[in-house]
Amino acid sequence: MACVFCQIAAHELDARIVYEDESAVAFYDILQAAPVHILVIPRQHITGPLDVDGTQEQAIGHLIAVAAHIARQEGIAESGYRLVTNQGRDGGQSVFHLHVHILGGRRMSWPPG
Ligand code: 5GP
Ligand code: ZN
Repeated sequence: MACVFCQIAAHELDARIVYEDESAVAFYDILQAAPVHILVIPRQHITGPLDVDGTQEQAIGHLIAVAAHIARQEGIAESGYRLVTNQGRDGGQSVFHLHVHILGGRRMSWPPG
């Protein structure tokens, strides 16, 4: 069975997709940690930030540009937002397909828990 996010990218599993192109897909997180909580993923299965190599740098950088596009689309560009990518146990990663969380619509605190 393919990973959950690969299935979402392939439209085999339902998700509220807000953006997609040839290398990235973005969809609402199933558990909303903020008024706007969207995940941006590469179509390519990369386990996490630790597994990014030189050939994927452009695709990973593209995720940040996609996040900016979505922030404008969702109306949080002006107020601001936070991008989060978790790696491994101590990072709090629970899905092992690299993803960037876009969190916005409320004031974020620092440091994160
Ligand atoms: P992580 O903890 O790995 O940084 O983030 C994984 C995120 O994926 C979590 O916020 C979790 O709520 C979300 N998630 C897990 N399974 C699904 C799913 O099937 N659909 C959607 N839309 N989000 C999911
Ligand atoms: Zn995957």
